[in-house]
Amino acid sequence: MAKRNIVKDGDPILRKKARTVSDYNRRLHILLDDMAETMRDADGLGLAAPQVGILRRVAVVLGPDEKIIELINPEIIETEGENEGPEGCLSFPGIYGIVKRPEKVTVKAFDRYGKPFTITGEGITARAFCHETEHLDGIVFVDKVERFLGPEDEEGNEEE
Ligand code: ZN
Repeated sequence: MAKRNIVKDGDPILRKKARTVSDYNRRLHILLDDMAETMRDADGLGLAAPQVGILRRVAVVLGPDEKIIELINPEIIETEGENEGPEGCLSFPGIYGIVKRPEKVTVKAFDRYGKPFTITGEGITARAFCHETEHLDGIVFVDKVERFLGPEDEEGNEEE
């Protein structure tokens, strides 16, 4: 595994739509392993492939049990409720804001071997599923912020 460089705000790749994955090969597995290591190293809750310069529909999310959830070609198929909370992004260091997300989100995706599955997340996991899926369409969280938070509010915020 190797740590990859995280693309920062201003890089045009963050605004591009990522392409569908069709080959579940070794190259994909290396990308997933590297993304997990990069996310952990940066203390993030999620990371999307465009954030490491790869325009493919791949994301990793840190689950509630600290287990890494790998999402290939993810699609949100169901949402429930509403949750207004702080959000950040590893590509926007030091910037936090309140974003409205569903409380519960069900995602359909494929695993690293191309096997389909669905997974439901609540709270910050639901938030991460939305945040990372949007990265794959070139949408970043600052587009959705209702209110930016100052440094005095930063305690306890997490970056995705
Ligand atoms: Zn992000």
